[in-house]
Amino acid sequence: MDSDATDASKPGSAIYFDGKSNQRRAVTLHLAEQLEIRDGDTVLAAWSYVDIRRADGPSGMLRLSSLAAPALARLEIRDAAVAADLVARCASLDENTPGRRGVAAIVGWSLAAAVSIVAVVLFGVPLAADRLTPLVPDAFERRVGEVADSQIKVLFDGKVCDNAAGQQAFSKLVTALREAAGMDTSVQSGVLSSPIPNAFALPGGRVYLLNGLLAKAENADEIAGVLAHELGHLQHRDSMRGLIRNGGTSFLIGLLFGDITGSSALIFASRTLVTSSHSREAELDADSFSINVMHRLGRPTKPAGELMLRITGKEGKGLSIMSSHPPSEDRLARMTREDRPATKPPLLTPEEWRSLKSICAADGKI
Ligand SMILES: [Zn+2]
Repeated sequence: MDSDATDASKPGSAIYFDGKSNQRRAVTLHLAEQLEIRDGDTVLAAWSYVDIRRADGPSGMLRLSSLAAPALARLEIRDAAVAADLVARCASLDENTPGRRGVAAIVGWSLAAAVSIVAVVLFGVPLAADRLTPLVPDAFERRVGEVADSQIKVLFDGKVCDNAAGQQAFSKLVTALREAAGMDTSVQSGVLSSPIPNAFALPGGRVYLLNGLLAKAENADEIAGVLAHELGHLQHRDSMRGLIRNGGTSFLIGLLFGDITGSSALIFASRTLVTSSHSREAELDADSFSINVMHRLGRPTKPAGELMLRITGKEGKGLSIMSSHPPSEDRLARMTREDRPATKPPLLTPEEWRSLKSICAADGKI
């Protein structure tokens, strides 16, 4: 081949994503006993040929993954000679054997994405989002959720508040709501230290309450109703649906053809999650969910409506839950209509409520 006589293997340049960071690295490949991925003299990874699989990629590029590497690790090769050599060495290149339930989900997802792109053209994005959302594999949604989670903590400069007494009260409240909603223990939740009065749900099963909302709340029923509303968004996978809708065609095409390790799509996604609001239907459904949960708990529904109005009335526009549609007056009217006298004891004792209010205080005192 070329003049690199000191090396028995064939060097070739490629682009490597390690699957753990967003970094795109220029590397050289050495086809030795294993495929060595090198940055200068450093071997970043060595992939056994038998583990290497072809990943979807644009024409003119060979994109590879390895069963033994992190799921999102990718190698992109444009050098035709190296690509041909690799194809010859990788006996299982086109064998779809990721094991467990991977392939079916990925194939199904790709088909769904392809169908949805057609649907986008024919019907516009919202329909596609509704059709597509149930088909997004849980693992993918969890991955989006993890990235969004770290982004959001940066965005809100958020430290998670967890002084012991406050956390205990918060867990008690969330557990009661979760059980009444019939949701399993995979739901994660927390309070973020931020003065913004808001709460939101992320893909993959996370609900966050911002301390600013706690500060404005007057009793546990108010917070419970809002948290139940966010659980409704989780249950309905509204965040994922919103992402697909707001991301539009380019996000869909990126999901289908692109490389999610180059996670500009995911960073875009987290920004979208924070800045966009749900559809009016999604909000109404989440309100219904909240109303049902509060009924099951034997607690009034009106307080959550009062809290929402208190926030939007005084602060103008807020983020997701406090978004302007439907108007907070309408919500309060509905939650007042649905209100029933309490038939069960408060979800938190007065002491627990005080602890929750001061969950972000270092020593548990306000
Ligand atoms: Zn909402």
